[in-house]
Amino acid sequence: MSDIIRLLPDHVANQIAAGEVVQRPASVVKELMENAIDASAKAITLIIKDAGKTLVQVIDDGKGMSTTDARMAFERHATSKISTAQDLFNLATKGFRGEALASVAAIAHVSVKTRRENDDLGTQIDIEGSKVTSQEPVVTPVGTMISVRNLFYNVPARRKFLKSDSVELRNITNEFHRVAMAHPQIAFRFVNNDSELFNLPASTYRHRIVNIMGSRVDDKLVPIKEQTELVNIQGYVGKPEFARKTKGLQYFFVNDRFIKHSYLHHAVVSAFEGLLPDKANPSYFLYLDVPPDSVDINIHPTKTEVKFEDEHSLYAIVRASVKHALGQFSIDAIDFQKDTELDLPYETIKNGAQAPRIEVDPDFNPFQPSGSSHSQKTNSHYHPKPAGNWDALYAGLEEKSTLTDEGSLEPASETLFSSTESTTTNIFQLQRKYIISTLQSGLLVINQNRAHERVLYEQLLRQLTVQNGVSQQLLFPIQWERPIEEVQILSQLQQELESVGFLFKNIGQNIVEIEGLPLDLKSADVESLLDSIIKFQQEELPDANFSHVDRLASRMATSMALKTGDALNAQQMQQLIDELFACKEPELTAQGKKVFTTITGEHLNAKFN
Ligand code: ADP
Ligand code: MG
Repeated sequence: MSDIIRLLPDHVANQIAAGEVVQRPASVVKELMENAIDASAKAITLIIKDAGKTLVQVIDDGKGMSTTDARMAFERHATSKISTAQDLFNLATKGFRGEALASVAAIAHVSVKTRRENDDLGTQIDIEGSKVTSQEPVVTPVGTMISVRNLFYNVPARRKFLKSDSVELRNITNEFHRVAMAHPQIAFRFVNNDSELFNLPASTYRHRIVNIMGSRVDDKLVPIKEQTELVNIQGYVGKPEFARKTKGLQYFFVNDRFIKHSYLHHAVVSAFEGLLPDKANPSYFLYLDVPPDSVDINIHPTKTEVKFEDEHSLYAIVRASVKHALGQFSIDAIDFQKDTELDLPYETIKNGAQAPRIEVDPDFNPFQPSGSSHSQKTNSHYHPKPAGNWDALYAGLEEKSTLTDEGSLEPASETLFSSTESTTTNIFQLQRKYIISTLQSGLLVINQNRAHERVLYEQLLRQLTVQNGVSQQLLFPIQWERPIEEVQILSQLQQELESVGFLFKNIGQNIVEIEGLPLDLKSADVESLLDSIIKFQQEELPDANFSHVDRLASRMATSMALKTGDALNAQQMQQLIDELFACKEPELTAQGKKVFTTITGEHLNAKFN
């Protein structure tokens, strides 16, 4: 019988190796960005299309490659970063395996343009499935641009395995955060499908963290700095009172590399002992510098898990420095009080941050001149304040109308719909969709669904900021079974949801038990609302900015608002009109749709010509 053992052809070996290095578009992002950093780039741009499935492109202004090196870079085990096994124990670079580019080129269409500073011309190489299809001189800026297209085009099984764009984009964003946070002295830009998600100038650790996580974290950071022989620690931990039940922002960097380390994580958590509310998680951004030969980053192919020589001492030092920083900080407790004013919307600051209860005055009459005692309840926390448009709409009304004894408006004789009745009867519902009211100049037509959406949106936004929505307790808690992934999203939003009136009895692995709902939410609508919040959250970039509060409010408003088809009585319509025109922006919904329109006398006159 003949021998049966053969060496695998290179492209097959590369494809197999690729499986280890490249699991998803985010892995390509990580490898390419790390190469750019190793090439001493000062500015790095990441451009992706379709969550990296169609394109991952990294452009750097680093040292570039020679024509031969550019070709060599795609060979397996080709690296400029180490030459002996001994070098492995003294790594100053991100890469060292010489596998990344070979792996990526085995499973994608790759194109490189690169030039060194002293070369007149650069070189361009195109590779498909490990085969070089062309290499030629090219005019290109100093540095390297690598484009990786159609990832896994020749490994359909892997391509099928990729998650939705939203999930893959989240993975990429996480990777980008980690690399960018580890290197604040490098400028980073991140563009997805032609829209810029991040543009981070070179700066300090603190600024980089704030630029990525949003300015709201700025006043929540406690600085840490500790120098020992074993390790230098710097960075920030979150003030204890901002810790949440959801997983905090937890970042360890060792020698400029993001790592995961459950033992050190425990050291930080234990330093917070006694300072955190039950089950709350601290946030931290800790940068450790250790001698390169005291850490082994070789134990995991994607290199987020590392092994330290003296983990016990490191544990003790990390714990002590966090404790120390927190102690220092609480002595200086004046700063402990968060300046909530900075986050408060609208008039809340002026009026004080009491519960934003809406007390609607059923007697409030928009047709009354402002200042009338009927128009506002003076002891209300919430003063319906006609917005600019409201004034404009009713401009001229005052002079031309006369007030009846009861204080209700008697339209002037030349109005279209003269009436001796009080104005509330001048409100009609049309097709259970529009609320129609008369104006001096004609008709006001309000879309009831959109008007209510605007009112709820602004109300929810206030509740989300000052965190005191009103709940209705449920007699029988709602039990809701969902996939783990969705439950996790909900649990991340728990605090926000509670601030608008949700009460959770329990959030388990894949079950959510709800025992209280926001006041205006019908239990029949809960599932569809939570579904849409989850879906929306999945599409959204985590941490990209803090407007998710905005989006949450807008989602909830859409779901809770009156619908077309809901019958309204005169008082309900009046109340809605009052609330609408007390809004900051009554004319548009949160999504920018028109809430009301006017039909003037001229419009109507024209119809009768
Ligand atoms: P490693 O980073 O482990 O060395 P890679 O396959 O990622 O392996 O890269 C191979 C080699 O290609 C690197 O060692 C480096 O010399 C070169 N290289 C890769 N990317 C760049 C870049 N952006 N700028 C300059 N040289 C690069
Ligand atoms: Mg590399």
